[in-house]
Amino acid sequence: MEVILQRGKARRVEDGHPWVYGNEIDVITGEPQTGDIVDVFNFKKDFIGRGYINTKSQITVRILTRQRSEPIDISFFRKRLFACREYREKLGFTLNYRLVFGEADFLPALVIDKFDDVYVMQTLSAGMDKWKRVIADILLDDFGASGVYERNDVPVRTLEGLEETTGFLSNEFDTRFVIDEEGVKFYVDLVNGQKTGFFLDQKENRLALQHIVKNAEVLDCFTYTGSFALYAAKFGARHVTALDISAEAIRLMQENVALNNFTNVEGVCANAFDVLPVWVKENRLYDVVILDPPAFTKNRKGIENAVKGYKEINLRGIRMVRPGGFLATFSCSHFMDVNLFYDTVASAAKDAGRTVREVQFLNQSKDHPVVWGIQETHYLKGLILQII
Ligand code: SAH
Repeated sequence: MEVILQRGKARRVEDGHPWVYGNEIDVITGEPQTGDIVDVFNFKKDFIGRGYINTKSQITVRILTRQRSEPIDISFFRKRLFACREYREKLGFTLNYRLVFGEADFLPALVIDKFDDVYVMQTLSAGMDKWKRVIADILLDDFGASGVYERNDVPVRTLEGLEETTGFLSNEFDTRFVIDEEGVKFYVDLVNGQKTGFFLDQKENRLALQHIVKNAEVLDCFTYTGSFALYAAKFGARHVTALDISAEAIRLMQENVALNNFTNVEGVCANAFDVLPVWVKENRLYDVVILDPPAFTKNRKGIENAVKGYKEINLRGIRMVRPGGFLATFSCSHFMDVNLFYDTVASAAKDAGRTVREVQFLNQSKDHPVVWGIQETHYLKGLILQII
Protein backbone atom coordinates (compact mmCIF):
# COMPACT_ATOMS: atom_id res chain seq x y z
CA MET A 1 0.00 0.00 0.00
CA GLU A 2 1.32 3.37 -1.01
CA VAL A 3 0.87 7.01 -0.10
CA ILE A 4 2.01 9.50 -2.71
CA LEU A 5 2.52 13.09 -1.64
CA GLN A 6 1.56 16.15 -3.65
CA ARG A 7 4.19 18.02 -5.58
CA GLY A 8 5.79 20.63 -3.31
CA LYS A 9 4.43 19.06 -0.11
CA ALA A 10 7.10 16.47 0.66
CA ARG A 11 9.96 18.68 1.80
CA ARG A 12 9.40 18.59 5.57
CA VAL A 13 9.03 14.81 5.60
CA GLU A 14 12.00 14.34 3.28
CA ASP A 15 14.06 16.52 5.61
CA GLY A 16 13.37 14.19 8.54
CA HIS A 17 10.04 15.10 10.09
CA PRO A 18 7.99 11.94 10.67
CA TRP A 19 4.48 13.37 10.19
CA VAL A 20 2.53 13.35 6.93
CA TYR A 21 -0.61 15.48 7.12
CA GLY A 22 -3.75 14.48 5.26
CA ASN A 23 -3.70 17.62 3.12
CA GLU A 24 -0.22 16.81 1.80
CA ILE A 25 -1.32 13.54 0.25
CA ASP A 26 -2.14 13.15 -3.43
CA VAL A 27 -3.23 9.50 -3.60
CA ILE A 28 -3.46 6.48 -1.35
CA THR A 29 -3.44 3.08 -3.08
CA GLY A 30 -4.72 -0.24 -1.81
CA GLU A 31 -7.32 0.84 0.80
CA PRO A 32 -5.19 0.58 3.93
CA GLN A 33 -6.96 0.10 7.26
CA THR A 34 -6.19 2.10 10.39
CA GLY A 35 -2.74 1.19 11.65
CA ASP A 36 -1.60 -0.57 8.49
CA ILE A 37 1.97 -0.09 7.31
CA VAL A 38 2.31 2.01 4.14
CA ASP A 39 5.18 3.23 1.96
CA VAL A 40 5.39 6.99 1.40
CA PHE A 41 6.68 8.50 -1.87
CA ASN A 42 7.09 11.99 -3.28
CA PHE A 43 5.33 12.95 -6.52
CA LYS A 44 8.32 11.66 -8.50
CA LYS A 45 7.80 8.28 -6.82
CA ASP A 46 11.05 8.47 -4.85
CA PHE A 47 10.73 6.43 -1.66
CA ILE A 48 10.66 8.64 1.46
CA GLY A 49 9.83 6.23 4.24
CA ARG A 50 7.57 3.59 5.71
CA GLY A 51 5.12 4.15 8.53
CA TYR A 52 1.66 3.52 9.89
CA ILE A 53 -1.49 5.15 8.58
CA ASN A 54 -4.67 6.52 10.12
CA THR A 55 -6.88 8.31 7.62
CA LYS A 56 -9.12 9.51 10.48
CA SER A 57 -6.27 11.52 11.97
CA GLN A 58 -4.95 14.85 10.65
CA ILE A 59 -1.53 13.29 11.04
CA THR A 60 -2.30 10.60 8.52
CA VAL A 61 1.04 8.81 8.38
CA ARG A 62 3.87 8.67 10.91
CA ILE A 63 7.16 7.44 9.49
CA LEU A 64 8.90 4.59 11.31
CA THR A 65 11.81 3.89 8.97
CA ARG A 66 13.55 5.56 6.05
CA GLN A 67 15.14 2.33 4.89
CA ARG A 68 13.24 0.62 2.15
CA SER A 69 14.73 -2.77 3.07
CA GLU A 70 13.58 -2.56 6.70
CA PRO A 71 10.28 -4.33 7.45
CA ILE A 72 8.15 -3.20 10.38
CA ASP A 73 7.93 -6.26 12.62
CA ILE A 74 8.90 -7.41 16.08
CA SER A 75 12.61 -7.29 15.33
CA PHE A 76 12.26 -3.69 14.15
CA PHE A 77 10.78 -2.70 17.52
CA ARG A 78 13.34 -4.78 19.43
CA LYS A 79 16.19 -3.10 17.57
CA ARG A 80 14.77 0.38 18.19
CA LEU A 81 14.17 -0.27 21.89
CA PHE A 82 17.72 -1.56 22.34
CA ALA A 83 19.02 1.59 20.62
CA CYS A 84 16.95 3.68 23.04
CA ARG A 85 18.50 1.93 26.02
CA GLU A 86 22.00 2.17 24.58
CA TYR A 87 21.66 5.95 24.15
CA ARG A 88 20.51 6.41 27.76
CA GLU A 89 23.18 4.13 29.18
CA LYS A 90 25.85 6.01 27.24
CA LEU A 91 24.71 9.17 28.97
CA GLY A 92 24.91 7.57 32.39
CA PHE A 93 21.25 6.78 33.07
CA THR A 94 20.88 3.58 35.03
CA LEU A 95 17.73 3.02 37.07
CA ASN A 96 14.97 5.51 36.41
CA TYR A 97 14.65 7.26 33.09
CA ARG A 98 12.52 7.78 29.99
CA LEU A 99 13.41 4.84 27.79
CA VAL A 100 11.41 5.99 24.76
CA PHE A 101 10.52 9.58 23.94
CA GLY A 102 8.32 9.11 20.87
CA GLU A 103 9.34 11.03 17.77
CA ALA A 104 12.73 11.85 19.32
CA ASP A 105 13.49 8.13 19.37
CA PHE A 106 12.04 7.52 15.91
CA LEU A 107 9.13 5.65 17.48
CA PRO A 108 6.33 8.17 16.94
CA ALA A 109 3.60 8.33 19.59
CA LEU A 110 5.31 5.86 21.93
CA VAL A 111 6.40 6.85 25.43
CA ILE A 112 8.00 4.45 27.90
CA ASP A 113 9.31 5.39 31.34
CA LYS A 114 11.42 2.98 33.34
CA PHE A 115 11.51 2.81 37.12
CA ASP A 116 14.11 0.15 37.93
CA ASP A 117 12.59 -3.00 36.39
CA VAL A 118 9.07 -1.64 36.03
CA TYR A 119 7.91 0.08 32.82
CA VAL A 120 5.02 2.48 32.13
CA MET A 121 3.85 2.85 28.56
CA GLN A 122 1.75 5.21 26.46
CA THR A 123 0.73 4.45 22.89
CA LEU A 124 -0.78 7.70 21.69
CA SER A 125 -1.74 6.86 18.10
CA ALA A 126 -3.78 4.09 16.54
CA GLY A 127 -0.78 2.89 14.53
CA MET A 128 1.43 2.55 17.59
CA ASP A 129 -1.37 1.16 19.73
CA LYS A 130 -1.51 -1.88 17.45
CA TRP A 131 2.03 -2.80 18.54
CA LYS A 132 1.34 -2.37 22.25
CA ARG A 133 1.37 -6.09 23.04
CA VAL A 134 4.51 -6.69 20.97
CA ILE A 135 6.33 -3.85 22.73
CA ALA A 136 5.25 -4.99 26.20
CA ASP A 137 6.49 -8.50 25.38
CA ILE A 138 9.90 -7.15 24.31
CA LEU A 139 10.15 -5.35 27.66
CA LEU A 140 9.21 -8.54 29.51
CA ASP A 141 11.30 -10.97 27.47
CA ASP A 142 14.35 -8.94 26.43
CA PHE A 143 14.59 -6.14 29.00
CA GLY A 144 13.91 -8.23 32.10
CA ALA A 145 10.86 -6.16 33.03
CA SER A 146 9.10 -7.41 36.14
CA GLY A 147 6.02 -5.44 35.22
CA VAL A 148 4.52 -3.25 32.49
CA TYR A 149 1.63 -0.85 33.00
CA GLU A 150 -0.18 1.24 30.38
CA ARG A 151 -1.17 4.84 31.17
CA ASN A 152 -3.22 5.47 28.09
CA ASP A 153 -5.63 7.81 29.86
CA VAL A 154 -4.53 10.63 27.59
CA PRO A 155 -7.05 12.81 25.70
CA VAL A 156 -4.94 13.02 22.47
CA ARG A 157 -5.88 9.39 21.87
CA THR A 158 -9.40 10.48 20.97
CA LEU A 159 -8.00 12.38 17.94
CA GLU A 160 -6.88 8.96 16.75
CA GLY A 161 -10.22 7.28 17.42
CA LEU A 162 -8.80 5.44 20.44
CA GLU A 163 -10.29 5.08 23.89
CA GLU A 164 -8.62 6.21 27.06
CA THR A 165 -7.52 3.20 29.03
CA THR A 166 -5.16 2.03 31.78
CA GLY A 167 -4.08 -1.36 33.07
CA PHE A 168 -1.47 -4.06 33.37
CA LEU A 169 0.29 -5.40 30.28
CA SER A 170 1.98 -8.01 32.48
CA ASN A 171 1.17 -9.84 35.68
CA GLU A 172 -0.14 -7.49 38.33
CA PHE A 173 2.46 -5.84 40.53
CA ASP A 174 2.71 -3.17 43.19
CA THR A 175 2.20 0.10 41.30
CA ARG A 176 3.17 2.34 44.21
CA PHE A 177 6.80 2.26 45.24
CA VAL A 178 9.72 4.42 46.31
CA ILE A 179 12.50 5.56 44.01
CA ASP A 180 15.76 7.15 45.04
CA GLU A 181 16.98 10.04 42.89
CA GLU A 182 20.37 11.45 43.91
CA GLY A 183 19.70 10.52 47.51
CA VAL A 184 16.18 11.99 47.59
CA LYS A 185 13.32 9.51 47.94
CA PHE A 186 10.01 9.83 46.15
CA TYR A 187 6.86 7.75 46.07
CA VAL A 188 5.91 6.91 42.51
CA ASP A 189 2.29 6.00 41.88
CA LEU A 190 1.90 4.61 38.37
CA VAL A 191 -1.89 4.38 38.61
CA ASN A 192 -2.83 7.69 40.21
CA GLY A 193 0.15 9.95 39.49
CA GLN A 194 0.04 12.61 36.76
CA LYS A 195 1.19 11.39 33.33
CA THR A 196 3.34 8.30 33.95
CA GLY A 197 3.70 8.92 37.68
CA PHE A 198 6.79 11.09 38.04
CA PHE A 199 8.40 13.96 36.14
CA LEU A 200 11.72 12.60 34.92
CA ASP A 201 12.19 15.48 32.47
CA GLN A 202 13.28 17.89 35.25
CA LYS A 203 15.86 15.54 36.72
CA GLU A 204 18.93 17.53 35.69
CA ASN A 205 17.24 20.83 36.46
CA ARG A 206 16.54 19.80 40.03
CA LEU A 207 20.30 19.34 40.41
CA ALA A 208 20.85 22.88 39.15
CA LEU A 209 19.44 24.16 42.47
CA GLN A 210 22.40 22.72 44.35
CA HIS A 211 24.35 25.82 45.35
CA ILE A 212 21.79 28.61 45.16
CA VAL A 213 19.44 27.14 47.77
CA LYS A 214 22.01 26.73 50.53
CA ASN A 215 20.65 28.43 53.67
CA ALA A 216 17.97 29.97 51.50
CA GLU A 217 14.29 30.65 52.02
CA VAL A 218 12.72 28.97 49.00
CA LEU A 219 9.30 29.21 47.35
CA ASP A 220 8.42 26.31 45.04
CA CYS A 221 5.29 27.13 43.03
CA PHE A 222 3.48 24.31 41.20
CA THR A 223 5.24 21.75 43.35
CA TYR A 224 3.18 18.59 42.52
CA THR A 225 5.13 15.77 44.23
CA GLY A 226 7.45 18.37 45.71
CA SER A 227 10.40 17.40 43.58
CA PHE A 228 12.08 20.82 43.53
CA ALA A 229 11.08 21.49 47.14
CA LEU A 230 12.69 18.26 48.30
CA TYR A 231 15.89 18.87 46.37
CA ALA A 232 16.03 22.35 47.87
CA ALA A 233 15.70 20.85 51.36
CA LYS A 234 18.38 18.29 50.55
CA PHE A 235 20.75 20.97 49.26
CA GLY A 236 20.50 22.88 52.51
CA ALA A 237 17.60 25.32 52.20
CA ARG A 238 16.64 26.88 55.54
CA HIS A 239 12.92 26.78 54.77
CA VAL A 240 10.83 25.76 51.77
CA THR A 241 7.25 26.79 50.96
CA ALA A 242 5.71 24.41 48.42
CA LEU A 243 2.58 25.62 46.64
CA ASP A 244 0.06 23.72 44.54
CA ILE A 245 -3.61 24.15 43.65
CA SER A 246 -4.29 20.46 44.12
CA ALA A 247 -4.87 19.09 47.63
CA GLU A 248 -3.82 15.69 46.32
CA ALA A 249 -0.49 17.12 45.14
CA ILE A 250 0.13 18.74 48.51
CA ARG A 251 -0.65 15.42 50.20
CA LEU A 252 1.82 13.60 47.92
CA MET A 253 4.44 16.27 48.55
CA GLN A 254 3.97 15.95 52.31
CA GLU A 255 4.31 12.15 52.12
CA ASN A 256 7.58 12.63 50.26
CA VAL A 257 8.77 15.14 52.85
CA ALA A 258 8.05 12.62 55.63
CA LEU A 259 9.76 9.84 53.66
CA ASN A 260 12.94 11.92 53.66
CA ASN A 261 12.56 13.12 57.27
CA PHE A 262 12.67 16.78 56.27
CA THR A 263 11.07 19.14 58.78
CA ASN A 264 11.44 22.48 57.04
CA VAL A 265 9.08 22.07 54.06
CA GLU A 266 5.65 23.64 54.40
CA GLY A 267 2.78 22.96 51.99
CA VAL A 268 0.27 25.55 50.84
CA CYS A 269 -2.78 24.51 48.83
CA ALA A 270 -3.86 27.51 46.77
CA ASN A 271 -4.20 28.92 43.27
CA ALA A 272 -0.94 30.65 42.38
CA PHE A 273 -2.81 33.30 40.40
CA ASP A 274 -4.76 34.26 43.54
CA VAL A 275 -2.13 33.92 46.21
CA LEU A 276 1.03 35.32 44.58
CA PRO A 277 -0.41 38.85 44.17
CA VAL A 278 -1.44 38.79 47.83
CA TRP A 279 2.01 37.70 48.93
CA VAL A 280 3.62 40.41 46.79
CA LYS A 281 1.38 43.00 48.51
CA GLU A 282 2.46 41.61 51.88
CA ASN A 283 6.08 42.17 50.82
CA ARG A 284 6.98 38.52 51.25
CA LEU A 285 10.50 37.85 50.02
CA TYR A 286 12.44 34.69 49.23
CA ASP A 287 16.03 33.95 48.32
CA VAL A 288 14.95 31.52 45.60
CA VAL A 289 11.62 31.33 43.77
CA ILE A 290 10.87 28.30 41.56
CA LEU A 291 8.10 28.40 38.94
CA ASP A 292 7.29 25.13 37.19
CA PRO A 293 3.73 25.63 35.92
CA PRO A 294 1.76 23.17 33.78
CA ALA A 295 1.64 23.74 30.01
CA PHE A 296 -0.72 26.71 29.84
CA THR A 297 -1.42 25.77 26.24
CA LYS A 298 -1.40 22.55 24.29
CA ASN A 299 -2.13 24.23 20.96
CA ARG A 300 -1.17 27.23 18.88
CA LYS A 301 -4.48 29.01 19.41
CA GLY A 302 -3.94 29.23 23.15
CA ILE A 303 -0.54 30.92 22.97
CA GLU A 304 -1.72 34.44 23.66
CA ASN A 305 -3.46 33.49 26.90
CA ALA A 306 -0.60 31.24 27.88
CA VAL A 307 1.88 34.09 27.47
CA LYS A 308 -0.34 36.23 29.73
CA GLY A 309 -0.32 33.44 32.33
CA TYR A 310 3.45 32.95 32.18
CA LYS A 311 4.07 36.67 32.34
CA GLU A 312 1.75 37.09 35.32
CA ILE A 313 3.38 34.41 37.46
CA ASN A 314 6.89 35.43 36.45
CA LEU A 315 6.12 39.04 37.32
CA ARG A 316 4.89 38.02 40.79
CA GLY A 317 7.71 35.53 41.21
CA ILE A 318 10.40 38.10 40.33
CA ARG A 319 8.91 40.66 42.73
CA MET A 320 9.27 38.16 45.56
CA VAL A 321 12.98 37.52 44.98
CA ARG A 322 15.25 39.32 47.45
CA PRO A 323 17.82 41.51 45.67
CA GLY A 324 20.63 39.19 44.63
CA GLY A 325 18.42 36.11 44.96
CA PHE A 326 17.43 33.70 42.21
CA LEU A 327 14.46 32.79 40.04
CA ALA A 328 14.25 29.30 38.50
CA THR A 329 11.50 29.50 35.88
CA PHE A 330 10.23 26.89 33.43
CA SER A 331 7.79 26.33 30.61
CA CYS A 332 6.84 22.84 29.49
CA SER A 333 4.69 23.99 26.59
CA HIS A 334 6.12 23.22 23.17
CA PHE A 335 4.23 26.20 21.73
CA MET A 336 6.05 28.56 24.06
CA ASP A 337 9.29 28.41 22.09
CA VAL A 338 12.65 29.49 23.45
CA ASN A 339 12.46 33.03 22.06
CA LEU A 340 8.93 33.61 23.30
CA PHE A 341 9.91 32.24 26.69
CA TYR A 342 12.87 34.63 26.96
CA ASP A 343 10.73 37.55 25.78
CA THR A 344 7.98 36.79 28.27
CA VAL A 345 10.28 36.48 31.27
CA ALA A 346 12.20 39.59 30.14
CA SER A 347 9.01 41.60 29.91
CA ALA A 348 7.99 40.44 33.40
CA ALA A 349 11.39 41.53 34.77
CA LYS A 350 11.05 44.89 33.05
CA ASP A 351 7.60 45.46 34.55
CA ALA A 352 8.99 44.51 37.95
CA GLY A 353 11.76 47.08 37.43
CA ARG A 354 14.47 44.54 38.16
CA THR A 355 17.78 43.83 36.48
CA VAL A 356 18.33 40.24 35.47
CA ARG A 357 21.57 38.33 35.24
CA GLU A 358 21.27 35.05 33.32
CA VAL A 359 22.92 32.25 35.28
CA GLN A 360 21.96 29.21 33.26
CA PHE A 361 19.67 28.08 30.46
CA LEU A 362 18.02 24.74 31.20
CA ASN A 363 16.50 22.09 29.01
CA GLN A 364 14.55 18.87 29.28
CA SER A 365 16.72 16.01 30.62
CA LYS A 366 18.93 14.15 28.17
CA ASP A 367 16.65 11.11 28.21
CA HIS A 368 14.11 13.39 26.47
CA PRO A 369 16.33 14.30 23.51
CA VAL A 370 15.49 17.06 21.05
CA VAL A 371 15.82 16.15 17.38
CA TRP A 372 16.67 19.05 15.08
CA GLY A 373 14.01 19.26 12.41
CA ILE A 374 11.35 17.75 14.68
CA GLN A 375 10.52 20.86 16.65
CA GLU A 376 7.74 19.17 18.63
CA THR A 377 10.41 17.17 20.50
CA HIS A 378 11.51 20.36 22.28
CA TYR A 379 9.03 21.32 24.97
CA LEU A 380 10.71 22.01 28.30
CA LYS A 381 12.98 24.96 28.84
CA GLY A 382 14.00 26.91 31.86
CA LEU A 383 16.16 29.69 33.16
CA ILE A 384 18.01 30.30 36.36
CA LEU A 385 18.26 34.04 36.75
CA GLN A 386 19.80 36.24 39.37
CA ILE A 387 17.40 39.04 40.18
CA ILE A 388 19.40 42.11 41.14
N1 SAH B 1 7.26 20.85 39.63
C1 SAH B 1 6.62 19.57 39.50
C2 SAH B 1 5.70 19.45 38.33
C3 SAH B 1 4.64 20.50 38.25
S1 SAH B 1 3.27 19.98 37.34
C4 SAH B 1 7.67 18.46 39.45
O1 SAH B 1 8.82 18.74 39.15
O2 SAH B 1 7.29 17.30 39.68
C5 SAH B 1 2.22 21.34 37.52
C6 SAH B 1 1.51 21.43 38.86
O3 SAH B 1 0.88 22.70 38.90
C7 SAH B 1 0.41 20.40 39.09
O4 SAH B 1 0.68 19.68 40.26
C8 SAH B 1 -0.88 21.23 39.24
O5 SAH B 1 -1.75 20.75 40.27
C9 SAH B 1 -0.33 22.58 39.63
N2 SAH B 1 -1.17 23.73 39.26
C10 SAH B 1 -1.87 23.92 38.11
N3 SAH B 1 -2.45 25.14 38.11
C11 SAH B 1 -2.12 25.74 39.27
C12 SAH B 1 -2.40 27.02 39.85
N4 SAH B 1 -3.17 27.89 39.21
N5 SAH B 1 -1.88 27.30 41.06
C13 SAH B 1 -1.08 26.42 41.71
N6 SAH B 1 -0.79 25.19 41.21
C14 SAH B 1 -1.30 24.85 40.02
